[in-house]
Amino acid sequence: MSKITQKEKYYFFLNPYTDSSFTRCPKCDNKTKIKKLPLAILLEKKEIMFMLNKTCKFCPYCELIIAKKHELELIIMQFLGVDHITDKDFTVMGTQDKAVYREGVGKELIKENPLEGVSIFKNVWDFEVQQAYWGVDEK
Ligand SMILES: [Zn+2]
Repeated sequence: MSKITQKEKYYFFLNPYTDSSFTRCPKCDNKTKIKKLPLAILLEKKEIMFMLNKTCKFCPYCELIIAKKHELELIIMQFLGVDHITDKDFTVMGTQDKAVYREGVGKELIKENPLEGVSIFKNVWDFEVQQAYWGVDEK
């Protein structure tokens, strides 16, 4: 049996602001890139590890992944067939290796080791949007 060693990769920020998509990194102020990668989301009440291939904002300097909270909530609500969830219903734990994700597509609920290929986040950060952030964008 292989020993389970959980790798750590990336920092994570769950963006609660529907009107701010963080085109700049809230930590270093560089422009963020777009990155699509499988997020490992723990649905605690259902005891399900839900893998979601999601387009996120990404800062390569800070290794920071930014996902929109309300977008995740909509997808999870659809998945669960409910019309309301709270913060306590789901936890974004990390990312899954793309090759492992592709292999598991369609059978993710019956996988023996749901954390296979999953790297948990090094840390989860929280940022508050400053009022100035909404300032006029001069072109
Ligand atoms: Zn950054």
